[in-house]
Amino acid sequence: MSHMSDTPPLVINWFRRDLRIQDNPSLSHAIASGAPVIAVYVLEEIGHFAPGGASRWWLHHSLKALHKDLEKLGIPLVLRRGDPAKLIPELVKEVSATSIVWNRRYDGKGIETDKGLKLSFTDDGVEVKTFNGSLLREPWETETKSGGFYKVYTPFWRAYKEVGPSRNSLSKPRKAPIYSRPLPPTDALKDWALLPTKPNWAKGFDDHWTPGEKGAAMRLDKFLDRAVSNYDDRRNRPDIQGTSGLSPHLAFGEISPFQIWNTVRGRVEQGNVGNDGAMTFLSEVVWREFSYNLLYHFGHLATDPWKKEFANFPWEEDPAHLEAWQKGQTGIPIVDAGMRQLWQTGWMHNRVRMIVGSFLVKNLLIPWQEGERWFWDTLVDADPASNAASWQWVAGSGADAAPYFRIFNPVSQSQKFDPDGAYIRQYVPELSRLPNKHIHAPFEAPTAILKDAGVELGATYPEPIADLKITRQRALDAYDEIRKSV
Ligand code: FAD
Repeated sequence: MSHMSDTPPLVINWFRRDLRIQDNPSLSHAIASGAPVIAVYVLEEIGHFAPGGASRWWLHHSLKALHKDLEKLGIPLVLRRGDPAKLIPELVKEVSATSIVWNRRYDGKGIETDKGLKLSFTDDGVEVKTFNGSLLREPWETETKSGGFYKVYTPFWRAYKEVGPSRNSLSKPRKAPIYSRPLPPTDALKDWALLPTKPNWAKGFDDHWTPGEKGAAMRLDKFLDRAVSNYDDRRNRPDIQGTSGLSPHLAFGEISPFQIWNTVRGRVEQGNVGNDGAMTFLSEVVWREFSYNLLYHFGHLATDPWKKEFANFPWEEDPAHLEAWQKGQTGIPIVDAGMRQLWQTGWMHNRVRMIVGSFLVKNLLIPWQEGERWFWDTLVDADPASNAASWQWVAGSGADAAPYFRIFNPVSQSQKFDPDGAYIRQYVPELSRLPNKHIHAPFEAPTAILKDAGVELGATYPEPIADLKITRQRALDAYDEIRKSV
């Protein structure tokens, strides 16, 4: 400590998946210290969770918004690209920081990096403080009665409901003292080339999203004003805007679950939103927490099956099928609508994520890891915990997963959740003239009806790449094999 004592205090706030200034505990702590504050974001491009294409698009806009908001607080933002284990200590030296703060992350590699840095800074006499910025409760705080962690969601949610969040959301941060020292070098955001150019596949994203903290707050308000009271009934309908669309904002930490919880409960208490819809909504927010608990306790969630017997599953690698799925050309309308919504907007409705996931893993027998990877690259809300946990849920290999033998029939799912075919018509316009009765399964429609609607299977729209009945049985047989092997 002693050699630092003459150095005037200066705090670094290291931003990660917490790109907001409100309810940001490490940032509030830095400002409250009374010392000048400088912020840093490091673009980490190595490892399983290096940002995919859609995340890079979002990150570009989110960092731009954060930069503006930080300017108002008198805090410069430094951008660096590479390995934080090397870059963060360099920055600490460059600016002679006396203290560094951040909000924790929960994936194995992130934890390892952060722990290493914490130890080395502490040895060097640089103060380190870390906070919980992104989970209502820390993963080690929620224990079962016998002292383990929850592997089943329902009791986990019950425990959360009982105790509530670990804190209230924080009040707005003040301005930091003026930063008058020389500014360290920073990368230019545009040099990171986070936005796609040729081709610009993100053309459609602008119509759907406003990345950044303000965009997040607007989303929550709109959802609470219009949809939360009917959330119970409508959350499964991809043809209706019945969910919040907050997932990318949450994934990048532009809004915190504390802010969501407090705002939602506040509105219920004022009597202007229905309690049932609100509680179901919060229970979904807690699925995210459950996923983070799983990731924290099982670091390989994104790569290895949680249930060990699935390591022996007889998957079939089929690049042509995988590509048809990715491009929304499977010949199953609801699957194609979902995959095209994902490509065009960077997001897909939850019900449809389950349908396309089930089709990939069960009807096509393609390993769920392929789906996880594609979603990771194309989702604006790609999240290390939720994506991995949800794919394992779909595959049946996860904690509290859908049993493998319960195989979705995509046609009956489509009839039930997109009854008028409006969602299919939006994303698979070549089928839009088919009557409701046939739009879910054109491969079963009479030739005359197809002709009337201008549909020619194999020409204007693909024949199904898999027979739903045969592949269902094949999946059940494959599952039997691993069950016997346990
Ligand atoms: P809302 O219904 O408004 O829910 C509110 C919030 O709760 C969401 O923003 C999200 O943060 C959380 N949430 C809701 N459902 C889930 C869930 N099942 N698991 C975890 N959190 C949930 N969600 C991601 O955020 N990132 C992912 O990478 C991701 N990958 C998925 C992959 C598959 C195969 C499946 C089936 C689901 C995946 N989900 C993922 C979960 C879910 O589909 C999305 O969170 C949801 O569709 C986001 O839309 P929303 O914000 O309108 O949700």
